[in-house]
Amino acid sequence: MSGDRRETPDRTGPPDDGGPDALFEKLKAYEGQPAAQAARGRDPVNTPMIRHWCEAMGHPAPPDGSAPATMLQVWTMPGLDRGRSARASAYDELLGALDEAGCTSVVATDSEQEYARPLRPGDEVGYDAVIESVSPRKTTKLGTGYFVTTRMDIRRAGDGALVGTHRFRILKYRPAARSAPRARRPRPVVNRDNAGFWEGVSQHRLLVQRCDACAALRFPWLPGCNACGSDSWTAVEASGRGTVYSYVVMHHPPFPAFDVPYAVALVELAEGVRMISNITGVPHDRVRVGMPVELEFLRVDDELELPVFRARTGDEEAAR
Ligand code: ZN
Repeated sequence: MSGDRRETPDRTGPPDDGGPDALFEKLKAYEGQPAAQAARGRDPVNTPMIRHWCEAMGHPAPPDGSAPATMLQVWTMPGLDRGRSARASAYDELLGALDEAGCTSVVATDSEQEYARPLRPGDEVGYDAVIESVSPRKTTKLGTGYFVTTRMDIRRAGDGALVGTHRFRILKYRPAARSAPRARRPRPVVNRDNAGFWEGVSQHRLLVQRCDACAALRFPWLPGCNACGSDSWTAVEASGRGTVYSYVVMHHPPFPAFDVPYAVALVELAEGVRMISNITGVPHDRVRVGMPVELEFLRVDDELELPVFRARTGDEEAAR
């Protein structure tokens, strides 16, 4: 999650003329009120969830069997059962007041966690959350609105010992009008570690690195081998054939150079390495895991060309 707080002029949001802000005064009154009350974690801290989380995150499991501190939020998640949500009415009212004022969009901007003590299998957690602060009206690139920060205190059930604190900040805003001239697609950052890759692109070759010591292929380009640490490598050209290993369809947030929705795919090359790219030749809602794809080069503008993947024609999935 990231926030962008660069101030840019915006004339479509709530008045931002430096005058009195009655809405801010109203929102400010919610500071200190509960956002969630007397909630209980859905499951006790347990070894299977710790193991699955560590595997998914690529995080080494703590040798003493405790839960990694960064799992904190996991133990407070209500799951898909909305009836379990402990959200307090004050928080709903605050969001409702913002909706009414036209600040109907929301983006999570950042979160902070502090850890007080470890959790071990068998521990149960409870938590309360408070509306900690509401910012004065701000105009950002996204629009004009208010940053709302909630603080959740997670405690061990039984003795009530503080386990950790989780601050979560959102921007509720009125979207800015999109009248600016169409932005160019962001430029890749070319540095000495990846210059060879972009040189390959300019020659319509998709180059991956092969470790000279252990022959492991790697992508994206890195100075050293993930498998053996060797910094000696040779660039090899990939066949350009692959399959969609995974994908997401981007709806939000909108970036000026891209028309949502669009698919972003993790393509597994025939050589075994994976790369993130776009899929061409099929609408975003026809992209499927396992779909065969083939490399092509997309001329984006007069100075940018990108390797993308075209759904292979004649393939049943693509034709459906
Ligand atoms: Zn190696």
